[in-house]
Amino acid sequence: MQYLFWLVLAALFVLFAGTLYWSSRRNSVRSNAQEKDLEEWTCPTCGFQVQMGTECIYCGEKKSAF
Ligand SMILES: [Zn+2]
Repeated sequence: MQYLFWLVLAALFVLFAGTLYWSSRRNSVRSNAQEKDLEEWTCPTCGFQVQMGTECIYCGEKKSAF
């Protein structure tokens, strides 16, 4: 029965490590997206410098991937 105990322990550890890895990956992806949203960008249509967000508040142009 000792073998079964270690098997369960190993399975729990893998599950725990996987959850930790997954949540940390998701958090970093989310913070990266937030940083991009907070980045300053210049609207290519009207030249207005947008301080925040992905849409120009002056002409409504969406931030393009450049
Ligand atoms: Zn604009």
